This record gives sequence, structure tokens and C-alpha cells, in this order.
Amino acid sequence: MTDGLDPDDLFALPGLRRTAPKSGFPAPEMIPQVAYEIVHDELMLDGVSRMNLATFCTTWVDDQARRLMAESLDKNIVDKDEYPQTAELERRGVRMVADLWHAPDPVGTRGTSTTGSSEAAMLGGLAAKFRWRKRGGGAVSSDPQAVASGATPNFVCGPVQVCWEKFARYFDVEIRQIPLRGDRLTMHPDDVAAYCDNNTIMVVPTFGQTFTGLYEDVAGISKALDQLQESSGLDIPIHVDAASGGFLAPFTAPDLIWDFRLPRVKSINASGHKTGLAPLGSGWALWREAADLPDELVFNVDYLGGSMATFNLNFSRPGGQVITQYYDFIRLGRTGYTRVQSQLYRVAQHLTDGLLQLGPFEMIHGGDPQRGIAAVSWRLKQDVGFNLYELSDRLRTRGWLIAAYPLPPDRGDETIMRALIRHGFTIDMADLLLDDIVRGMRQLAKHPQPTPLTREEAGGFTHTATAVVPSKKARPVKKRS
Ligand SMILES: *Cc1c(COP(=O)(O)O)cnc(C)c1O
Repeated sequence: MTDGLDPDDLFALPGLRRTAPKSGFPAPEMIPQVAYEIVHDELMLDGVSRMNLATFCTTWVDDQARRLMAESLDKNIVDKDEYPQTAELERRGVRMVADLWHAPDPVGTRGTSTTGSSEAAMLGGLAAKFRWRKRGGGAVSSDPQAVASGATPNFVCGPVQVCWEKFARYFDVEIRQIPLRGDRLTMHPDDVAAYCDNNTIMVVPTFGQTFTGLYEDVAGISKALDQLQESSGLDIPIHVDAASGGFLAPFTAPDLIWDFRLPRVKSINASGHKTGLAPLGSGWALWREAADLPDELVFNVDYLGGSMATFNLNFSRPGGQVITQYYDFIRLGRTGYTRVQSQLYRVAQHLTDGLLQLGPFEMIHGGDPQRGIAAVSWRLKQDVGFNLYELSDRLRTRGWLIAAYPLPPDRGDETIMRALIRHGFTIDMADLLLDDIVRGMRQLAKHPQPTPLTREEAGGFTHTATAVVPSKKARPVKKRS
């Protein structure tokens, strides 16, 4: 008995005799079981995350990871004094990732865990901005490295994830996105120099593009910037956005040079909660050498009588993600990560083969580990009487979320479809998906839409990498993010 109520049947209790409070702060209280049931039941309408092939993020973790997450519910990562071992695991994580990305001195460099790549990207960008300011900030001079006073800093990139547009807006930095020439889908080394000047704080290649999954050619871009330095004296650093490639290539394409092996690469971000396999809320930002992170960005918090450097946008932050990430690192090691990530590519290639057999599709990225992340992206090569938004819509009726979206603005008349292959997506699931694609195509052939569905009518995926949100029909087309 609870408050004189018979808890025998939850659904007959008072809290469930009326609708749940939805606006205005509720006046009455309810027992936890009732409140839980309301929230739990409403969430049944959310998608099944493992069938969401639009997300890059972790949708499967093992039981030990779940346990560690539950056990660390109360651990605040900023409280280094209260939770010194959580802080220690973070420090170990930084050194491990620095080693993975070939930092010259993995123990001595600077790095931090973050809530994800977005925060890590902001930190990398801010460090570049502060280095640029330090370098000049003064009067016009004949030194090409000198910064004209009052000048706006800029950075150069190809088609980037929305976090870079945010960085530009929030921190007053001009974003110079190189348009895609011809049939190019990635930033090309030949195009980079023309966009750089002495206010360029960095070039940002994406190592695992959001649009297509393709790796941008970091080594080629680095070489182009070496040539620029020879001819003009401009020394432009690189920040690599390795949100999803950072925990793939070291295992599945170890000879691909994209990381701190290139001296020009001064900082890298990656999402622990993508291919790092950690639960949501985990990212990493690392600098090549301690000097690449300007001291002005570092705040020292007192820690067990000593002092601990922090550089984050957040203050309080859950510690479980870092703890669980450390668990992943020691549980899998290089051997385990290689095994797990290689399997992703096998599934991607299986899906690619299946798609090609269907006839009307051509691949943009077929899951080649040397070319990009474990994703498959494709387009229609012939007119089949339906478009990819309609196919995406059909697949949604079976619970699959697969993004269909236009390419970046300069190629925006082309539509592509993309499936991210993540830990927990099996060959059998790929076959079920292929069956549903065939079923969808048949239905669309039999019942063509009187007027083809547009992107937003078909559920208009925005291109935000992590949360591909189907928009309501009435909602205007969102700026692709
Ligand atoms: C996912 C992604 C981001 C944003 O990362 P979050 O971890 O979601 O904040 C940035 N850049 C690229 C290339 C991405 O794929």
C-alpha cells in the first residue's frame, strides 16, 4: 500500500487516470512507479537505435560497460579531488590516444576528454585562434606570419560537420569552405593554398566526412601547405576532425598517414562515442605537443594539494563516459579494436555487394577501409520512377532510419543515401535491410507517388551527423547542418 493506494495495478492508479503533465510546472506529485511508467511508455515511440543507420554514435555496449556507467552515476569529472581515480583514468586515456595517434611524446602532450567531437573541435579551433593571436596581433609588417591589427581570423575546410559552422559563429572566425569542383566530393589538396592567407588559423580536413564517409587526404593537404610555406612563408597548421576516423584508421588502415606523424598536424578531435565504442557523451581533443595548446586556455584546479590543468567548455560533467572509455581501451586493446572494426567493414562490403546487385544504385563509398569510415553511401544511377527520399520513407515503415540528403550546396542537386555500419550491426541485419529495400522498391514501382516526394515530405533528414532528425511535413526545410 502506498498512500492508501492499491499498487496492485499500476494502470488504475490516479496518476494514470489523467494525461501526463505537458506544460506548466505540475502541481501534484505522483508515485515514482507511475511517473516511470509514463516516461517509459512514451519513449516506446522513439526509434530502435540499432536500426538507425543514420547515426554515427554508439548504439550497443556490453554488460560490463552498462555496469560501469551505472556505478559512476555520481562521479563528476571536474571534481578531481573527490574522484582522483576518475581523473587518473582520464589522464591514462589521453596518453593512450596520444600513442594511438603517434604524438611525438604521448606522455608529455596535452589532451582532454570532452562531451564529444563538437566540444573537442571548439577547443582545437580556440587553440589555433590563440596561437594565431600570439603570433602577431600587431601592426602590418613584411613578415608574412604577422597578423594585421583588427583582422578577422579564418579557417579553411571542405564540406564540414555543423560543429565547425558553430565554431565560426560562436568565436568570430570566418569559415572558408572550399567548393567542390567537378566530380570531387572531398577537399582537394590542389585547392587549399588559394584559400589561405596570413589570417588563416588552420586548415581542417575531415577524416571521415559526414556526407559520404570518405577520408579527406590529410597527407596531401599537409604537403600542399608545405609547398605554400616554401613559396610564401605562410606556416599554416592543420587540425584534423577525426570524429569517426580517429578510432578506425589506426586499426583498419594503419599505414594511412593522417595523424601526428605529419608535423603540421597540431591537434585532433575524435568522438569516443562513435567508433571509440564508448557510450554517448565521450570525446577527445589532443594536441601534438604541450606548446600547441596555449597556456591562456588552461585553467588549473586544485587537486589533492597539487594542481590539475583543465581545458573544457563544461564544468560539471559525468565521469562514466571516461571510465567506460578506459574500460573499452583496456578490454579490447589494439587486437580487439582491430577485430571489432574489421568486422564493420566486412558488413559494409556485404551491404555494398547486395545493393549493387539490385541494379539501379551506384556506390560513392562502398566501405573500403583505405578510403573512408565503415559506412556505405550510394546514389541512383538511372531514373527508376522514385527518389531516395521516397525509399527512405518506405524503409521507415519497417523501422529503419537511413539518411537521404542532398550533397553540399555546390552539388546540391544530387541526392545520396548513407548507412553507417556500427558495432552491433550484423550481416543478418544487413540482409534484412536489403530485403526491405527490395520490398520498398517494389511498392514504389507498383504505387508510384503521384508527385514525387520531396526531401522534407519524405521526412527530410537533416544532415546533422549525430542526430538525424526527421522533420515534420509542415516544417520548412532546415538549412543542412
Ligand atoms: C559527429 C561528427 C562531429 C560532431 O561530433 P559529436 O561527437 O557528435 O559532437 C564533428 N565532425 C564530424 C566529422 C562528425 O562526424
